[in-house]
Amino acid sequence: MSARPLPDGFEPYVWASTAEDVARWRGLHPAEVIRFDANVPPLPGVPQVPLGESFARLNEYPEGTYRELREAAAGYAGVEADQIVIGAGADGLIGLAARTFLGPGRRAYVRRPTYSLYAIASAVEGAEPADDPKDADLVWVCNPNNPTGELVEPTEIGALARSVPGAAVVVDEAYFEYGGKSVVPLLAEAPNLIAIRTLSKAFGLAALRVGYAVASRELAAELDRRRDPAPVAAPAARIAAAALREPRLDVEQTVAERERMREALLAAGFECPPSAANFVLLPGAGDRAEPLEAQGLVVRRVGDGIRITVRVPAENDRILAAFGAAPGPSAARSALVVRTSAETALRVVLALDGQGRVRAQTGIGFFDHLLAQLGFHGGLDLEVVAGGDLDVDEHHTVEDVLAALGSALGQALDGRAGVRRYGSATVPMDEARATAAVDLVRRPHAEVALAFAGDRVGGLPLTLLPHALERFAVEAGLTLHVESAGADDHHVAEAAFKAVGRALREACSLDAAAQSSTKGTL
Ligand code: PMP
Repeated sequence: MSARPLPDGFEPYVWASTAEDVARWRGLHPAEVIRFDANVPPLPGVPQVPLGESFARLNEYPEGTYRELREAAAGYAGVEADQIVIGAGADGLIGLAARTFLGPGRRAYVRRPTYSLYAIASAVEGAEPADDPKDADLVWVCNPNNPTGELVEPTEIGALARSVPGAAVVVDEAYFEYGGKSVVPLLAEAPNLIAIRTLSKAFGLAALRVGYAVASRELAAELDRRRDPAPVAAPAARIAAAALREPRLDVEQTVAERERMREALLAAGFECPPSAANFVLLPGAGDRAEPLEAQGLVVRRVGDGIRITVRVPAENDRILAAFGAAPGPSAARSALVVRTSAETALRVVLALDGQGRVRAQTGIGFFDHLLAQLGFHGGLDLEVVAGGDLDVDEHHTVEDVLAALGSALGQALDGRAGVRRYGSATVPMDEARATAAVDLVRRPHAEVALAFAGDRVGGLPLTLLPHALERFAVEAGLTLHVESAGADDHHVAEAAFKAVGRALREACSLDAAAQSSTKGTL
């Protein structure tokens, strides 16, 4: 047996460490680790097709031409469906482009520093590096470039493509949405161009592994002939198609945050070149990586610098503070609470004007479900990671999570200026019905009446909920009334959390005309 040899000095792709690994090495709890190293949004995209439906036919292969996904991608990119080639993420398409244009005796041009996979995919095919695009069969371009964030004008890339008509010019536009400029409109005049896009970045769906290439019909067919029969799983293809048809991205907030971070870092004396992606690069700041990681703030080392992914404002404030940078205020209302005690370690990240995206990992499935309902109906973006002494019981985790959520809400509301103040909602769920009312004036009080018939739903002791909701109200500094009753305890609890979410959404919403209190302020 002998594998095809790899070139001397070949370095395979290396994955960054997981939050769990970093926590173990640094003596932290995973909830204390914030990853600024992965260039993905902090919260997952929300599947816009029912999950049950996506997973309904697991015995069948995907529809192998990916017609639905290609049509959705074509609509999004402004081309025809036969100009789209589907792959397992941008990475899959990088491999496909290498397979299509490279091999022993062929050459690939890569301008560094850039994403490592171009050199890896080229070497795996047996190609040699070219020193000049004119000598290459394939020219790799990353635009915006990872790790520098630099954006080259597409017309410049078009001119490059026209100057090397014998080569394929593959433009990785993984971060396209954050820079807004693409070579796709130039495909007609430079038919050797291929753009590669992904659902992993702005769409927040990296786990699905969906990417697409855009090219002239002829080139798309050339790629398609060589692709794997079914590179993307059917549920992933369905979720991705729905997302492309109706994109719900928060590019604007990310870009605003990127600029807020750059300004603070520049003012603190760091070099921080302009970026058109969802990260910033600090050349020469490599020695900061280690002390940051010791605090649980994980960044990516690149050469002598570090690359920092933009997260939500409150998280970004945390890393900026570690740099001694004083950020300007963010327009987005968000908060980060990290707490560790003898019993629990937890992190709550909350953005008030969100899209109902929730990632809850408390170790108690039904509690995660309730938090997801609260966040979704509250229009919040919410991440809750908690590791508690569940081996003792669920008490500390449930109480500490809702208390921390209350504290995060209080912080995110900051001065409470311009909020509507009052909110209420009645939510029916089959036989159950819940009503919640909220007043954001700083008079912490809770009246909670949840009429449960039994003690538990799943792993959650229901008796913990009233007191934990009280802690929530007290830490948030608000008045909360919630009542819920019905025959099914699952529904009673769920309707209550939905109603609280809806009431909060109304109370926290900004209303320029709101005259919140006769006293003028809350
Ligand atoms: N291209 C670039 C430039 C990247 O930074 C990344 C993320 N590591 C990828 C492609 C990978 O994208 P995907 O998840 O779609 O494979």
